[in-house]
Amino acid sequence: MSGLSACAKNRELLSQVVQKLDEITDLSRKQAEARNNGEPDRATELDQRLDLIFAQKERSVGAWQEHVREHGC
Ligand SMILES: [Zn+2]
Repeated sequence: MSGLSACAKNRELLSQVVQKLDEITDLSRKQAEARNNGEPDRATELDQRLDLIFAQKERSVGAWQEHVREHGC
């Protein structure tokens, strides 16, 4: 899994993983803010969105790993 030999598809899939991680970081921060600001409803809503994004992130990681396995890049 050398970064140097990664093909374009590999980099595309990996960038999707990074994008989801960024969204998770962003939502986590917003959720912490909502908690600190005494907005439990908003915190709960953000929590549910985090669950969704986390599942999407897991799928992105799975797609990337599958590509690496099949393509050997
Ligand atoms: Zn590849």
